[in-house]
Amino acid sequence: MSALAGLTLARARDGLKAGDFSSVELTKAHIKAVEAVRPLNCYITETPERALEMAAASDKRLASGEAGAMEGLPVAIKDLFCTKGTLTTAGSHILDGFEPPYESTVTANLFAAGAVMLGKTNMDEFAMGSSNMTSHYGPVENPWKRNGDAQAKLVPGGSSGGSASAVAARAALAATGTDTGGSIRQPASFTGIVGLKPTYGRCSRWGIVAFASSLDQAGPMTRTVRDSAIMLGAMAGFDRKDTTSVDTPVPDYQAALGGDARGLKIGIPKEYRIDGISAEIEALWQQGIDWLKSAGAEIVDISLPHTKYALPVYYIVAPAEASSNLARYDGVRYGLREAGQTLQEMYENTRAAGFGAEVKRRVLIGTYVLSAGYYDAYYLKAQKVRSKIAGDFRDAWDKVDLVLAPTAPSAAFGQGENMDDPIAMYLNDVFTVPASLAGLPAVSVPAGLSSQGLPLGLQLIGRPFDEETVLRAGRIVEDAAGFSAAPGFVAAEMAK
Ligand code: GLN
Repeated sequence: MSALAGLTLARARDGLKAGDFSSVELTKAHIKAVEAVRPLNCYITETPERALEMAAASDKRLASGEAGAMEGLPVAIKDLFCTKGTLTTAGSHILDGFEPPYESTVTANLFAAGAVMLGKTNMDEFAMGSSNMTSHYGPVENPWKRNGDAQAKLVPGGSSGGSASAVAARAALAATGTDTGGSIRQPASFTGIVGLKPTYGRCSRWGIVAFASSLDQAGPMTRTVRDSAIMLGAMAGFDRKDTTSVDTPVPDYQAALGGDARGLKIGIPKEYRIDGISAEIEALWQQGIDWLKSAGAEIVDISLPHTKYALPVYYIVAPAEASSNLARYDGVRYGLREAGQTLQEMYENTRAAGFGAEVKRRVLIGTYVLSAGYYDAYYLKAQKVRSKIAGDFRDAWDKVDLVLAPTAPSAAFGQGENMDDPIAMYLNDVFTVPASLAGLPAVSVPAGLSSQGLPLGLQLIGRPFDEETVLRAGRIVEDAAGFSAAPGFVAAEMAK
């Protein structure tokens, strides 16, 4: 592996500014790394020519002193972000050949800051999943292996699994992800990287293929907390084109890093001690508590009483919104069209052929909970409970500044596991959906290794628009964990 592909975003940025290497050199090293990790199937579309053009333009701006915050830094883009003129699939057959005539606001912001696009990353179809097994473009493999088991292919989590694997395998300095119920945080935990879901409204949703509009949020996936701070600063900002985008200034997130945890109150919600939680996840959580305590934080036991409803509420609200959002794929406006005798038959044939099983399941559930007669019993009830869940957090913020919890109930599992039982798959989201339903910022930071040598993440949830405190505490956990991506990690070998 080229040393250039192993740098952090921050180090690469500083190296470019100091003239140690050019963006074209950095980008070439990454294009090689992308090719070397092809067996992982992280990318749906590689864009090396575009990357080299962007890098050459960055080198000019670096030379003339006009460098932006992400100038010349090669990153990967989840294939849920519309990229003008570049195939955008959302991991679905139904978007075959779709080349958006517009650029999403988040990617436009990143490119305006100088970022270089290496390609579009694989993902669960329409961001529905926790394993990256539902992609039309095939599963993504996690670069990590269980100790002593070089055979079993592990999932990188989902839905932003391609982004997570690419960043973990050093085939991008960083990547964008999106998180509706955990799709940034859970894959970050499974692949030993940092994943930040910002506050709902912090990053524009404009030009991101919609899954569940009241939950979807874009965020950075990086190898360090500092890198997430840098990248979030470039992604975030008010956007008139998204009515739920919030007009509040973007702070200097990097300035929030550093210092200890004195003055911070960290809440430990008793309801997250779910039945059957594994001993190693409990131990990791306790470790995180101890680290923050020794950094000066005050640990406070709290209650988030409606936690147990979060998963059922999410699996009503998200499919309801998805069934409505996905109604637009009719064979007329985008991608795939399957012929039929009548217009109705063409719709049916296109949707039957274009959507995979998980997407169909969500559309069915969503249509059911929104249908006359069931709307009040399911959808409306779920909305009411959702506001109770948000209320639990509002009450908590009177007592604490952050909540600390595990990110996921397990380490990465094998490809094909949990596939025959959708409920078992949905359980992956048990710790991540509450913050999504409440619209809160949350980060997953690699905090340790499982007994099988696989990465495990800890999650910090913060007050609305307080990404700064989330990042500050994330940095403390990151430092204390001293996480090293060495054991079990094969990608570095593959990329040599
Ligand atoms: N795993 C969750 C789901 O399948 C979350 C997905 C996401 O955040 N996009 O819906």
